[in-house]
Amino acid sequence: MSCIFCGIAAGEVPSDTVAEGEDFVAFRDLQPQAATHVLVIPRRHISGIADIIPKDGDLIGRLMVAAADVARGEGLAEGGYRLVVNQGEAGGQTVEHLHIHVLGGRQMRWPPG
Ligand code: AMP
Repeated sequence: MSCIFCGIAAGEVPSDTVAEGEDFVAFRDLQPQAATHVLVIPRRHISGIADIIPKDGDLIGRLMVAAADVARGEGLAEGGYRLVVNQGEAGGQTVEHLHIHVLGGRQMRWPPG
């Protein structure tokens, strides 16, 4: 089964990368839903947040730190921003490789659609 985000993590699929580390990559979303829209993914394939297990806790923590670093780097820290993880069909997930959306540069609303 081929996974587009595994391809990006491996450098085989082009992406507009904004940050990367040993176990994560952050790149701009192809169809941005806000002025800033970056995806933070683990390099390792995990289908979604429902598939994480306790030993993934450190990795998930590093992804959250990376997401906050991206937001800071994009100048969003002061004004605020939103992190989103969609899970499964009802959650609106379309790519089955865990990713954190970093959204900012406009006023977010609640509840989300
Ligand atoms: P989700 O609906 O939460 O699974 O989010 C998947 C996101 O991936 C969507 O916002 C898509 O626009 C984005 N996306 C899909 N393919 C690519 C790609 N090749 N490069 C960047 N973003 C992508």
